[in-house]
Amino acid sequence: LSFVSLPVRLTGLLGEAQSLSESRRLKEFIEDSESEALALFDPSHRADSRSGDWYGEHAGKWLVAAARAALRNPSPDWNSRLEGVLLHLRACQEEDGYLGAYAQDAACRFTHPDAPKNRTWDIWVHAWAILGLTECCRIDALRELAEPIATKIGGLLLNTFHSEPGAALRQGNHGGLSSLVILEPLTKLSRLTGNPAYARLALGILEAAESHGLAFLTLPPKDVSEIGTGKIYQIIWCLQGILDLADFLDRPDLAAAVEAHWTAIGDRHLTPYGGPWGGIGGHKEVFNSPGFFHPGGLVETCSSATWLTLTQAMFLRSGDPRFLAEIEKTALNAILGAMDANGRDWCYFTFPNGRRNNTYHWACCKSSGAMALEACSQALLVEEEGTLSICQWWPFETVLPDGRELRLELRAGTVFLSASQATNLRLFVPEWATTEFQSGSFIQVTATPEGLAIPFTVPPQVIPHTHTVDHHGQEIVREDYACVRMGPFVFATGKFDGYAAHRTLRLPRLNPESTLKVVDDHAIDLIQAGCKPIRLEPYCLAGGRHDGGWRTTWLEVAWQ
Ligand SMILES: [Zn+2]
Repeated sequence: LSFVSLPVRLTGLLGEAQSLSESRRLKEFIEDSESEALALFDPSHRADSRSGDWYGEHAGKWLVAAARAALRNPSPDWNSRLEGVLLHLRACQEEDGYLGAYAQDAACRFTHPDAPKNRTWDIWVHAWAILGLTECCRIDALRELAEPIATKIGGLLLNTFHSEPGAALRQGNHGGLSSLVILEPLTKLSRLTGNPAYARLALGILEAAESHGLAFLTLPPKDVSEIGTGKIYQIIWCLQGILDLADFLDRPDLAAAVEAHWTAIGDRHLTPYGGPWGGIGGHKEVFNSPGFFHPGGLVETCSSATWLTLTQAMFLRSGDPRFLAEIEKTALNAILGAMDANGRDWCYFTFPNGRRNNTYHWACCKSSGAMALEACSQALLVEEEGTLSICQWWPFETVLPDGRELRLELRAGTVFLSASQATNLRLFVPEWATTEFQSGSFIQVTATPEGLAIPFTVPPQVIPHTHTVDHHGQEIVREDYACVRMGPFVFATGKFDGYAAHRTLRLPRLNPESTLKVVDDHAIDLIQAGCKPIRLEPYCLAGGRHDGGWRTTWLEVAWQ
């Protein structure tokens, strides 16, 4: 199978979020070469930079997000903004290809012999720069400018690590994971240029990682919490790199290892709203041990963003619809649920049960959130051997390369599909929708100018979870929880009666859904005898979309 992803303009909740992020986050965070995230690369700023910080990542992440925004919403304004940033980066790039933010003689440079003894994020920063530059190469008008900057970085990486690829892993924290992320950028460089040397270096680094204990490839697979420090964001990004490398080098064994980890993360390490969670037992950004449960589990927005794009890559290479539900859940709940209504601010951590906390100016998660929003359009409309497939029931409109217009709308209980000329295509019917067709599969339809309407029902669902802990065969903890889903959304409530973080609800074991009264697509009342109804809303809207808002997703339950 060979899938080609086409640019799509989203409308609805996701589309509104993309537009806000485009105008507020993307166009305000970097305006020109004076903007802080770019000024870091200026020789004058560089001269004082020796602390090995990671802030340089924002320029590359911005390029990824802005290039995607420019592809879905092309304009001369976007092209000139992107061109300005590329020209600045080119001016800051040193003769040997270095494009980091550290002083020329700083020991934290990845080219410095003492780099392994120092705090350094230099490989990480260059990894983001390469991804940003390769994303810009998707825009025809920018490729001539962006590609040489990227290949010069690639050349420096080859010169530095060619003779001993494993040396890269001695730099970068989290046991080398923060350097191993270079797998994906190196593979992308090979795809872009057709030069396999970058991918060969990536393979050398991966093989060194395996022999130094960063074991992604052992069978049966280690749990992800046991790889390196268990750092979620890095591990998922490494998996994405291994997957890309597997396809470039035609190594199905590597792809099988990634798929095994993907399945294990899905089974053991996700919150109900799709984010990979951790942080209760150790460092706040590492996977928990499998089976650990806490309603206040931490989800880093960077981890959700990377989980989304890994899952999209899994789908795009296989066409397997089982990945689509996971993409939808993470996009509409974890990603949208981390963004503030102002389009600028993001939570670093979100919690099934907990407070929204907008993060600080330089936080990684703000750039990752904006990138993930732009990624949402990517695996929505795909083409396989001339046939279009619509992969989600997300409202969108697009103009196909041959000029045909295509539009999907959701109207009370109906999915409505129209095209400016009759178009045969495949439409995915999500698991959550009950229609005359088989859920969870693609169907053949014809979109016409008059439109095609498919009615559906979407019943709310109570999902129970019993958390138990055993000690020497004796059960010492038993707590009952439930959460509510309807359609693509996980539902949550704010504080009970406006102030209480906890309340135990009584739900009938048989047909707990009988306590739910659907008000509309975005509102459900949970009825408890003798009390005011408890209003549930989609996780991304519940409790207010601003700093300080509270969400309760896991409801404590006394089963009746
Ligand atoms: Zn982050």
